[in-house]
Amino acid sequence: MLPGFTSTRPTRAEPRRELTRAPARPTNARMAKSFRRIETQAIHAGEPEPRIHGAVAMPIFQSATFEYADAGNVRGHDDLRYIRLNNTPNHAAVQAKLAALEGAEAALVTASGMAAITTTLLTLLRPGDRLLAQRGLYGGTHGFVTGELASFGVEVDFFDGGDIASLAAAVRPKTRAVYVETITNPLVEVADLPAIAAFAREHGLTSIIDNTFASPFNFRPLAHGFDVVLHSATKYLNGHSDLVAGAVVGARDTVDAVTRTLNHLGGCLNPETCALLHRGMKTLALRVAAQNANALALALALSKSPAVERVLYPGLASHAGHARAKELFRGFGGMLSFEPKGGLPAAEAALRRLRIPLVAPSLGGVETLVILPSKSSHAGLAPDERRAMGIGDALVRVSVGIEAAEELIEDFEQALAG
Ligand SMILES: *Cc1c(COP(=O)(O)O)cnc(C)c1O
Repeated sequence: MLPGFTSTRPTRAEPRRELTRAPARPTNARMAKSFRRIETQAIHAGEPEPRIHGAVAMPIFQSATFEYADAGNVRGHDDLRYIRLNNTPNHAAVQAKLAALEGAEAALVTASGMAAITTTLLTLLRPGDRLLAQRGLYGGTHGFVTGELASFGVEVDFFDGGDIASLAAAVRPKTRAVYVETITNPLVEVADLPAIAAFAREHGLTSIIDNTFASPFNFRPLAHGFDVVLHSATKYLNGHSDLVAGAVVGARDTVDAVTRTLNHLGGCLNPETCALLHRGMKTLALRVAAQNANALALALALSKSPAVERVLYPGLASHAGHARAKELFRGFGGMLSFEPKGGLPAAEAALRRLRIPLVAPSLGGVETLVILPSKSSHAGLAPDERRAMGIGDALVRVSVGIEAAEELIEDFEQALAG
């Protein structure tokens, strides 16, 4: 044994000390109450109390399996800790932090955003059920609900997020759940989210929201009546473009039910990635506040540029969802889209001339990324279909990072000036 390092292994005679035994089920509710503001929760919620061996940062428990608490009295499955069961100390800590950030009873982390989405839908829907989904969903989600879901006997209907009447018109006797996104990709639309949650409640439907684009810093859906919050934690929650992860957040019963499905499907997050996500989440408030400010500054500058046809950003008064976003969100987010004058060739030339942003898919990291949806996320659609959705060939989507706003603006201006 190294000097100054005490063994965590108790002698058989003494009871195991609590600090070496992270709870199999995180005690989120207590943690969530102890810190009021998200800035403080991001740092302190979910951290083990007392700290393990005094470690200020959550250590990584790179162990697939764990000893039973009491070798002489093994209580079966409830007592079993194993990485695939999503209940190692690193899972417990990051899940408790995330639950606090979303103001929830419980959270589950998953191997990817798509694992969170598919596992949740497969848990909540049964053969014969129908899902009512907002049009314009994230590509992977759209692919799953229109592709694989049918082979589980679940049909999907769509409604227009901008038109609440279309929601009422699309609901059927077998509809079980409503699925929306806080801010859509790439047109950054903001539906009447509280009205959708209220509609679901009145009709006995489970309301599910993908809160990836807003992050809990800008919007906490549970406080507005939603039942289940999903994340691609790959994006803002982690914020450093260095891992893939997902999350399911909500009431304890719901999260437990999704966990049981995930335990069978196997899409668990490994402890090292839990720890990276945990570290990333500590700076969520700082990062998203900077991204809100940078995106607003860039959107305003682009909307004044003679080289730009239109700018889509919920923070602009010209945006259809502006009043709603202003009322619901703490900030307007780091995602914007714009169309330069001169069509696709002008957009491609501007992308080549940009010096700071990288041309890459994904979003929510500290670095600014740009992409042409017509050539990437929406390349599979026919051009007419794409244009009918409002996605022009020259539309540029920007995931705004935390660089200096003035330098970003200068860079976009020189790239557009040609
Ligand atoms: C990226 C993304 C997903 C999928 O997440 P992965 O982590 O890539 O599996 C789902 N929803 C939204 C809104 C996303 O941006």
